Amino acid sequence: MSQPPLEVLNPATEEVVATVPAATPEDIDTAVARAVRAQPAWAATAPADRARLLRRFADIVDQHVEELARLEVREAGHLIGNARWEAGNVRDLLLYAAGGAERLNGAQIPAPGGWNVTFHEPLGVVGVIAPWNFPLPIAAWGTAPALAAGNAVVLKPAETTPLTALRLAELALEAGLPEGLFQVVPGHGSVAGRALVDHPDVGKIVFTGSTRTGREVMGRCAAQVKPVTLELGGKSPNIVFADADLAKALDPFSFLDNSGQDCCARTRVLVQESVYEECAALLAEAIGAVVVGDPADEKTQMGPLISRAQLDRVRGYVPDTADGFRGSAPTGPGFWFPPTVLTGEAADSPAATEEIFGPVAVLLPFTDEQDAIRLANATPYGLAGSLWTRDLGRALRVSAAVRAGNLSVNSHSAVRYFTPFGGVKQSGLGRELGPDALTAFTETKNVFISTESTEGPSQ
Ligand code: NDP
Repeated sequence: MSQPPLEVLNPATEEVVATVPAATPEDIDTAVARAVRAQPAWAATAPADRARLLRRFADIVDQHVEELARLEVREAGHLIGNARWEAGNVRDLLLYAAGGAERLNGAQIPAPGGWNVTFHEPLGVVGVIAPWNFPLPIAAWGTAPALAAGNAVVLKPAETTPLTALRLAELALEAGLPEGLFQVVPGHGSVAGRALVDHPDVGKIVFTGSTRTGREVMGRCAAQVKPVTLELGGKSPNIVFADADLAKALDPFSFLDNSGQDCCARTRVLVQESVYEECAALLAEAIGAVVVGDPADEKTQMGPLISRAQLDRVRGYVPDTADGFRGSAPTGPGFWFPPTVLTGEAADSPAATEEIFGPVAVLLPFTDEQDAIRLANATPYGLAGSLWTRDLGRALRVSAAVRAGNLSVNSHSAVRYFTPFGGVKQSGLGRELGPDALTAFTETKNVFISTESTEGPSQ
């Protein structure tokens, strides 16, 4: 049955950028069948040749960074500078994964009576379900290593942001990747996404999005014992001890980058009580100075939210009467919300523990190291976090005690394609990126070869 088309809006103006047909379950069947046909020859291609094609794909992406970035600004409301970085991230990841294709080595394990070797075999067809918050990089995080390891990929982008992914698929063909190897199938999550998850010929699902949908995806994968990687929500702490460089530690872009629509946003600002007032003053001044507006303007520091639904969701956490301070935001068309810091929240309130996914942080005091650790761990999430102190021993103790997949000490470092990324608790399952990214798209096969003589007993 046909599906209502996807209307892509410019979040800064609410103008329609494009209307895209939405895939039916039959379209997913067709795409997966094509991928099944394309994959064996790709897997049989010599690793150096696979790598060469992926490098060519990276080159073509590099030649289109500006075009991809402009598209990202229009469909996702990203700042033009950020969008250029994101398109460049796709290029870098393709190059990094290409090198991995040439180094996907198995092991030789000593065994009595023969030789034992392992092989990393591709899974076949990988389904990637991407969100709208970083449409370009997250599409590539799953796709690049999966292709490098010899798989075909069917990618379902978020319905609000299909355009850059569709362009990437065109660029892949231009680079010479075989037809059917990397396909982008836009559609509604509840129809096309679900059909991809349920498809028996899809060997793995890589999902990034909300914890609620991730749970459903995991359940459906479980029905087929299908491997799944989940990158889900976050409510990450920024732990600031009194001895820290406070101005650096309280960089407001640690939670305002991408208008706060970032699963790693440090939205729980935990500060030692002796410097609470100083920190509040620093934050108030910093967010008051943030330039919010047209994302295509190089001087803008924060753009709009992705959609009206997201705007309503963020508003729901911030009643007009909430204690705290706010910056400014445009009025008129577009999905605008001002940078906001809430100061009157209880540590266990919804605003302090749930993922808001908007430019909103809560400021909470802690007494000492143990209290900071307790507060940092007091959410269902465990994705990222920062901690700031000049005391090396404390930095090491707190890093060990905070339950999260990615921590930064005296830094708000971003996700890097060459280091592993993923969450614990309800922030996810499995790791992406980093040196082991390719093996997550393989099965290890163990082969034992007997060295016993096959000749009969000697005469
Ligand atoms: P979802 O988790 O619903 O969407 C993420 C992706 O999954 C989209 O491509 C979506 O398609 C697809 N999807 C939706 N339902 C299904 C399904 N049943 N089976 C398979 N795929 C499905 O996130 P939302 O867009 O609804 O955002 C809601 C909240 O989720 C945000 O406010 C934020 O808190 C969190 N979120 C977290 C992200 C992260 O990076 N960790 C990214 C995005 C959201 P479609 O677009 O058609 O719905």
